[in-house]
Amino acid sequence: MSLSGPIVMKFGGTSVADADAIARVVGIVKAARDSSGLPPVVIVSAMSGVTDRLLELTGAAERRLDAHVLNGVAELSRRHFEALERLLPAEAANDVLADIGADFDDLRALLKATGILRSASPSAHDAIVCTGELMNSRILAAALAHNGVPTAWVDARRAIVTDNVHSAASPRAEETREAVGREIVPRVAEGRVPVVGGFVGATPHGVTTTLGRGGSDYSAAIIGAAVDSREIQIWTDVDGMMSADPRVVDSPKVVPYLSFGEASELAYFGAKVLHPSTILPAVAKDIPVRILNSRRAGGAGTTITAVPPPATRPLAAVACKRNVTMVEITSTRMLMAHGFLRRVFEVFERHRTAVDVVTTSEVSVSVTVDDDARLGDIVEALREFAEVSVEGGLAILCAVGDNLRCDPRIAARVIGALEGFPVRMVSQAASRRNVTIVLRDEDLAQGMGQLHSEFFG
Ligand code: ASP
Ligand code: MG
Repeated sequence: MSLSGPIVMKFGGTSVADADAIARVVGIVKAARDSSGLPPVVIVSAMSGVTDRLLELTGAAERRLDAHVLNGVAELSRRHFEALERLLPAEAANDVLADIGADFDDLRALLKATGILRSASPSAHDAIVCTGELMNSRILAAALAHNGVPTAWVDARRAIVTDNVHSAASPRAEETREAVGREIVPRVAEGRVPVVGGFVGATPHGVTTTLGRGGSDYSAAIIGAAVDSREIQIWTDVDGMMSADPRVVDSPKVVPYLSFGEASELAYFGAKVLHPSTILPAVAKDIPVRILNSRRAGGAGTTITAVPPPATRPLAAVACKRNVTMVEITSTRMLMAHGFLRRVFEVFERHRTAVDVVTTSEVSVSVTVDDDARLGDIVEALREFAEVSVEGGLAILCAVGDNLRCDPRIAARVIGALEGFPVRMVSQAASRRNVTIVLRDEDLAQGMGQLHSEFFG
């Protein structure tokens, strides 16, 4: 299938946090429009912090903290109107002022009703929290239009059709494709840039839904898939995926290409640039997803595709997770009796504690957890049928790369680079695209540094 549809550009909360940031985005969209035939489709988040604030205000309304709620709404409206005032001269702002004023009227009414009922229904909740995206998309559309970019604000609730699972809605692909074909595709054909708020959609009956926190990436992937986009750009405040955690290693590099599989391994390790599940609609259609920095628009960023261009690089990146605890569980029978592993994992499940790395031997199983809140109870329960020892102060170091699957020398080099450090666990996941090593947290910085310079020089 050849994808020839428009580029989708998604701007996250920090990229549209205030008037200056929005002005930068206007420049980026303008440039994209000038350099290609088709106008891009623009998806935009709420200004950073706004969704959190709306959630907090919903809770406050339920507790009848009416003055707090009114103050909060006043603050939000000041922030949005201030941005507008700086972006648009008064005479150009009339329409958008009226629209945003109406959004705030709705928001106040929803919060008032929430206070009276002392509870926000799931649909009221979604109608409240999506306000940030609705308003910000109007502001960006107005700013683009004022700067000479033919623009069309699109109500995302008319374009993304979802099920009715409020706060975590999933798109209905066919209906969304139809709605996008009606609301967005014709605007592009007219030469206008559709500007759509992320995070929000609606059921076939028009009831507002939201797609879950961070859902604007999901919106971009859903719309990208529906328009057969040739590229989805995720504009954020970092240069791309990095070859190592910059808080641990001195000068990591931007990783130019990643496979979808590598990206999902890395995302787990707090490379929170992108949640792979949110780009599944793009993965399914094999649409390249690029991560770019809106503060430094010249960079090449990171391009994520199913199969990156043939690369000689042995690893894509290294990642880490600090402050983990290892629990070593040894069967008190001679060998692991049948049912042993089930009993072990049941204990963790019962205490709602996620297990990260797992290694097993004939008589024991070692696991790491990063949340040790329930550890006391867990150990007590495990001791009913096993010997248990606990070691805190550890870190997980993970080397990720598709080539680990086909070249065993890479894994050997990974382990070799950590020579001299006491290693607690080593595991290679079933995907075989990572090697995971558990070591002392105090050794992490040096170990990761050595590993990084071995592969990224
Ligand atoms: N504003 C929403 C959130 O903060 C969606 C997003 O930014 O992607 O979760
Ligand atoms: Mg956000």
